Amino acid sequence: MSFKTISCQDRAIKLFQNAILNDRLAHAYIFAGQEGIGKTLFSRELAKTIFCQHRGTDACDTCNSCKRITSDNFSDLFFILPEKNSRVIKIEQLKYLQDVLNVKPLESKYKIVIIQSADKMNEEASNCLLKTLEEPPSYAIIILIVTSLESVRETIRSRCQIVRFSPLSSTVVKDILINRFQLDNKKAERLAVVSNGSIERATLLSGTHALEKKNWLVDRILKLEMNDNLTFSKELFEEWHIQDLEVLEEKRTYVKELILSFLLYYRDLLICKTGGSKLPIHYIDWKDALISKSNSLSEDVLFRIINVIKTSLGHLDHNANITLLLENMITKILHLQFNCRIPSLQEHFSLR
Ligand SMILES: [Zn+2]
Repeated sequence: MSFKTISCQDRAIKLFQNAILNDRLAHAYIFAGQEGIGKTLFSRELAKTIFCQHRGTDACDTCNSCKRITSDNFSDLFFILPEKNSRVIKIEQLKYLQDVLNVKPLESKYKIVIIQSADKMNEEASNCLLKTLEEPPSYAIIILIVTSLESVRETIRSRCQIVRFSPLSSTVVKDILINRFQLDNKKAERLAVVSNGSIERATLLSGTHALEKKNWLVDRILKLEMNDNLTFSKELFEEWHIQDLEVLEEKRTYVKELILSFLLYYRDLLICKTGGSKLPIHYIDWKDALISKSNSLSEDVLFRIINVIKTSLGHLDHNANITLLLENMITKILHLQFNCRIPSLQEHFSLR
């Protein structure tokens, strides 16, 4: 692979090709953009281009350096990512980064460190990173990969050049699903539409019968009654196999997908309600049912429900008890939807 194989990121490619040509690479970059649009892939191709023995503005992919980078075997390139089953980069990993950067590059004039999920760092680790960024050695290029720029401290942000990455177009996602994951045309097309420009989401959806699960969800949610509250949560966990997942991180990924499905459903209702006929509906197969449902709910209620869902989504990354988070969200939605008072957290517990 090389820059030639990277889709939808022409702006970032141009930026780096110019910097390489003019020998003006910065010491620190932040690559920002949603999950699964190829930021890590891009950073590897960038490293390849910088280290390539042919010294051009794209990797040749055939020289010894390019080949070794492809096989993760190049001594001046390092990746740092959260350890398995941990969501955050730890201070020890940042200390390791300092040690790495204290040693001069072995085979080129640069040493590149790529930190994945760099927006997921505690205070201690952030301080350590900041120290490194304050006085990077002349040969260092540090790339921080983040999905949320807001989660990166201002003191860190201000020391990095920010490069924003665009979501992939649905045609590109579709082609990747067909060529790389051998999906058939029809399935690839549907997944490309619902993946919101993210290959990661598309593959997650393709591997777990997620389209079927989503269909089940909409079908069920349309028929919900007020007193379905706890039974619905239970059904949901069973249908989405959430309780079967032992690894917390995996569970979090699925719950996130589930909450996003709720968000899209209520967003669709709001579109139907406000007659925004130009906006695409996500659950297009249910258009008539959604229109009829939207007649029974006020705009205000829909906005409030969407806020409840967004809040839950925001809490997901910081919450250990994600089952309770989900139950709580559903209770609140049902209360809003059926025009009742939202129970306090205490009441919620005593009901259980
Ligand atoms: Zn090369």
